[in-house]
Amino acid sequence: MKWFLSFLVFSIASLTATQTPQDALKRLQQGNHRFATEKLLHPDRTHERRLSLTEGQSPFAVVVTCSDSRVVPEVIFDEGLGDLFVIRVAGNIIGSTELESVIYAVDHLNPSIIVVMGHESCGAVDAVVQNHDQDIPVIASFIEPSVKKAKSMGKTDLLKSSVEFNALNMRKVLLNSGTIHKKVHAESLAVHGAYYNLQTGAVDFLTP
Ligand SMILES: [Zn+2]
Repeated sequence: MKWFLSFLVFSIASLTATQTPQDALKRLQQGNHRFATEKLLHPDRTHERRLSLTEGQSPFAVVVTCSDSRVVPEVIFDEGLGDLFVIRVAGNIIGSTELESVIYAVDHLNPSIIVVMGHESCGAVDAVVQNHDQDIPVIASFIEPSVKKAKSMGKTDLLKSSVEFNALNMRKVLLNSGTIHKKVHAESLAVHGAYYNLQTGAVDFLTP
């Protein structure tokens, strides 16, 4: 029985490595729904899963999100070991080091989806909105165009709009990479912006 379960876990893990971008999106949405409705499965956290990953990893998704302690992708999407390749930095900006990390994953680990996820009450974005960003000049320089855009459009919820524009703007940075663009064009990879609601726990996938 134990052997069978290990085999099953391994088979499921292997299958997930080759899913379509649409299936990958659905899997993230379903995991987030379980999280938001308190029906967590806590998958891929067993001893067997850990052992099956010692030879390598094939995460089905790359998530670029904020360092904020309330925004933890494995928890929010109810995933486990080896499922998500995560890059976290304040304001979920994508500079050269973050871009290299994503491209490494795309080149070597074959994920089907990349999500750039901003969140409600993001301190980094709010600092730029409020002009209190002296302590984070480099990060702020990435966020500024999105705040300017939200201000110029007269958005009433300035912080939320800025966070959403920033996620979509960083998505664009990823699509400008030849490696990523090629796979998106071949429909083996999708890149999404997203917004995480702290209060409801729901992730909204954004339309560019
Ligand atoms: Zn944040």
